[in-house]
Amino acid sequence: MTAHRRTARACLTGAGLTAASTAYAVTVGHPILAGAALYVSVFLAWCARCHYAGHRRQLAEADWEQQHVLGRTPPPLNPCCLLSRHGDGTAHDRRCTDLFHRLTTTDLRSST
Ligand SMILES: [Zn+2]
Repeated sequence: MTAHRRTARACLTGAGLTAASTAYAVTVGHPILAGAALYVSVFLAWCARCHYAGHRRQLAEADWEQQHVLGRTPPPLNPCCLLSRHGDGTAHDRRCTDLFHRLTTTDLRSST
């Protein structure tokens, strides 16, 4: 279990609890409290979705790295790395799954 998955489960649990409190606030008749709880519930559900995506990405990168270490030539992931995704393809991470970009980002001082 990755840290992303653990965090996603916590966020999802929080989203469920705040959704239940939303329903309770509606039945009691507090619209402001219900709105606030609904907002928190939707926000936590969005956070859980992002962390599940991070979990899937981490598993895909680990699988890609394992295939690469075994000598196979797996196709690069899309996007090739998270730095490329956030940098519009101009910068790449050292763990980039595109071998050409990985070569250009390797620090040659550490290999000597
Ligand atoms: Zn990349």
